[in-house]
Amino acid sequence: MQIIRDIAMLHRAVTALKADGKAVALVPTMGALHDGHLSLVRMGKRVADHVVVSIFVNPTQFGPNEDFAAYPRDEARDAALLAQEGVSLLWAPDVATMYPAGHGTHVEVAELGADYCGAARPGHFDGVATVVAKLFNQVRPDIAIFGEKDWQQLAIIRRMARDLDFGLDILGAPIARDADGLALSSRNAYLSPEQRAAATAFPAALKAAAAAIAGGADVAQSLAAAEAAILAGGFDSIDYVALADAASLERLPAFRAPARLLAAARIGKTRLIDNHPVG
Ligand code: AMP
Repeated sequence: MQIIRDIAMLHRAVTALKADGKAVALVPTMGALHDGHLSLVRMGKRVADHVVVSIFVNPTQFGPNEDFAAYPRDEARDAALLAQEGVSLLWAPDVATMYPAGHGTHVEVAELGADYCGAARPGHFDGVATVVAKLFNQVRPDIAIFGEKDWQQLAIIRRMARDLDFGLDILGAPIARDADGLALSSRNAYLSPEQRAAATAFPAALKAAAAAIAGGADVAQSLAAAEAAILAGGFDSIDYVALADAASLERLPAFRAPARLLAAARIGKTRLIDNHPVG
């Protein structure tokens, strides 16, 4: 596996990978890799000839009081995992390569980024969309793979790829979970053993609410019950628990398919997100 940090070298390497019409899939990540990330890589191996993984902890998607500095980083471990999976190329630019002095152009996400995580994290999705647009232009993949774990992000990237004519396929990969149901996340590393045990209340509450709503229960009551169960399970606060149209992300006062439960909650200093299909 090649590890590349320079854009000109990246272009040469990707051009070589694409020789003879070979297809390249890109899996963008912020590192601290777990089985969720690796499931995206495995999907890439199934749908393309070569998988390129990027690792870049993107400062522009973190708010001033968020965990950019503390975000877990272990490139040597990540690179070993990716090499084992048969990844062709690791693209690992530094901040000065991604945002050279004077960088002043960005992608602005409109209504899809306004609610949910966008409301809780102002500017977050503009930062995500900008860096993903840059990664698409840098790597020029045929396919890019994102996790359904970040449902709003996936919807925003699909829309951006369409709106800005990136001309590549965006694939969503199912959420990888631990045996007790907690969605795998690099941020789970922040949890104490007690918090980690309590965190299972989060996916359990979403699963129960999704089943209730699909079974005809009142939406507002089901969402309130999920919030109460998450707090009773040991979380400190809820950012949102919402029933949304799975594609437009519009809030749904009553169930209609295709719908998705979207949620974010905080336990100690850690903010976790999750989502669940309904029906
Ligand atoms: P991150 O490194 O957190 O920015 O995530 C990189 C990619 O991995 C994103 O497309 C995420 O949606 C995806 N991802 C993270 N955790 C999971 C998971 N538990 N299951 C599936 N995909 C995930």
